[in-house]
Amino acid sequence: MSNNELMRSLISPYRVSNGKKFHLESCDPGDKGEIENKEHAKDLLATGVARIAELQEKLYAQDEWSLLLVFQAMDAAGKDSAIKHVMSGINPQGCQVYSFKQPSSEDLDHDFLWRCQKCLPERGRIGIFNRSYYEETLVVRVHPEFLDKQKLAPKLVGKDIWEDRFEDINNFEKTLTRNGTIVRKFFLNVSKAEQKKRFLARLDDPTKNWKFSAADMGERAHWQEYMEAYEDMIRHTATERAPWYVVPADKKWFARLVVVAAVIDALESLDLEYPSVTNAMKKDNLAARKILEAEK
Ligand code: ATP
Ligand code: MG
Repeated sequence: MSNNELMRSLISPYRVSNGKKFHLESCDPGDKGEIENKEHAKDLLATGVARIAELQEKLYAQDEWSLLLVFQAMDAAGKDSAIKHVMSGINPQGCQVYSFKQPSSEDLDHDFLWRCQKCLPERGRIGIFNRSYYEETLVVRVHPEFLDKQKLAPKLVGKDIWEDRFEDINNFEKTLTRNGTIVRKFFLNVSKAEQKKRFLARLDDPTKNWKFSAADMGERAHWQEYMEAYEDMIRHTATERAPWYVVPADKKWFARLVVVAAVIDALESLDLEYPSVTNAMKKDNLAARKILEAEK
């Protein structure tokens, strides 16, 4: 199998484009597909990153499409490092990363999509959301006190609120897709045991200490509720136009590779082309060449 074929076959088991029958239980966080080891993954990753760089240049030059990549995960699942790798070959001018933390009071005075809408990628660019509007169906669902802070009128907060949010999100993503922003979503699926290992490593290593926050322990205590929220979210929002990738994340090197392969697949689906040169442009270029060559 060629590297290209391998990269393509790598992603299909993890792509969820119809969530109806999705069960998180059947997704193994430790899976590493057909990839033999870390070294094998490294080679493929380097080729993949170079391919993203080529495609991004065309995306930027053509200036017709944009790509939104959404990352969601439990703490220490490797969002930051996956993002770092996807970005590593990219021209920074063509890419924007936004991290969504606890909402500000200005954010809370608006609807739940508002703060993310302001950060959408411009045409020709790749936009990365490190957490996103999906937090509105995850952390806000697990902690009802966050919903209280949103000051919604009681009659707007019925038992259907999560269904309503899923519907709003699907409509939002439909609007984006219809207007040239394609959306790909990644849930980095780390196991509870692997999270424990990574938290301990953060505590042990002074250079990683800053990554650990006591609040992360609080979220870990709600693990099961989070898993239920993630499953429900994927069931309701995995669509053909904006699929979720449920990425096995216990092996970071494998997770990065799946993300890179999915980004390549998304960009290739656009059949990107450099803008064609019109006859008028050719004439101008010829004139410019003559002037430059005549210069002393
Ligand atoms: P990360 O954990 O993503 O690597 P970080 O540790 O730098 O980032 P944190 O201070 O942990 O940043 O901020 C992210 C926190 O903000 C998460 O606990 C997340 O659940 C929370 N958050 C994000 N969006 C919302 C929201 N809409 N409402 C409430 N909390 C949110
Ligand atoms: Mg954190």
